[in-house]
Amino acid sequence: MQFSDLSLIDPILKALAEEGYSTPTPIQQQAIPILLNQRDLLGCAQTGTGKTAAFAIPILQLLSEDKYKNPRAPRRIKALILTPTRELAIQIDDSFKAYGRHLDLRHTVIFGGVSQHGQVNTLKSGIDILTATPGRLLDLMSQGLVSLRDIQFFVLDEADRMLDMGFIHDVKKVIARLPERRQSLFFSATMPPDVAKLADTILNTPAKVEV
Ligand code: AMP
Repeated sequence: MQFSDLSLIDPILKALAEEGYSTPTPIQQQAIPILLNQRDLLGCAQTGTGKTAAFAIPILQLLSEDKYKNPRAPRRIKALILTPTRELAIQIDDSFKAYGRHLDLRHTVIFGGVSQHGQVNTLKSGIDILTATPGRLLDLMSQGLVSLRDIQFFVLDEADRMLDMGFIHDVKKVIARLPERRQSLFFSATMPPDVAKLADTILNTPAKVEV
C-alpha cells in the first residue's frame, strides 16, 4: 500500500514525498481511513510506530477541507493535542509543520518551564492546531488566553504515561472544557483498567486499532 491509496489530498502527498515517506506504517494504514471518516479512535501503539503521522495527517486534511472555513474570520483553535512531555509536544508540532507545509493552517506548541510570553504572542496571532502539555494549557486557559470552545479534534497522546505522571486531574479539567461535538483520538502504549476507563469517558463508539 502507498500513501496515494489513502484518499489524501495532493498538498499532503507532496509533503510526505518530500519527507521521503513512501509506504504508510501499519497504524497509518489502519487509522487514516477511520479518521478521515470522522470516527473516534482508540489506538494501542507505542512511540516509533508512526502514530504521530497517523493522527496528524487526517487532522490536517479534514481541517483544510473544512467547508465552513471563512478566510476572513479570525483563526480559532480547532485541534488540540495533549501530550505529557515537552519533548513529545515539540515532536508532534514538528510533524504538523512537516506534513502541513503546503496547507494554509497554523500550528504551535505550548509547554511549561519557560516564559509564557512568546507562546502567548503566537497564540494571539491565530492558531488552528495547538499541541500542549496539560499544566501550561490549564494555566493559559485560566488566564483567558486559550479557549477550547471551537475544538473539533481532540487527541490524548501517551495516555498511560499521562496517568503515571499524575496528570489525571489536569486531563479531566481539560476534557470538561471541550465541546461535546468533536472527534476524539486516544493513544496509549498499554491499556490497564484506569486507562481504559479514561478512554471510555472521552470516546464515542471508537474504532480500535492495535499495532
Ligand atoms: P512516531 O511513532 O510518530 O514517533 O514516529 C516515529 C518515526 O517514524 C518518526 O521519526 C517519523 O518521522 C517516522 N515515520 C512516520 N511515518 C513514517 C513512514 N510512513 N515512513 C517512514 N518513516 C515514518
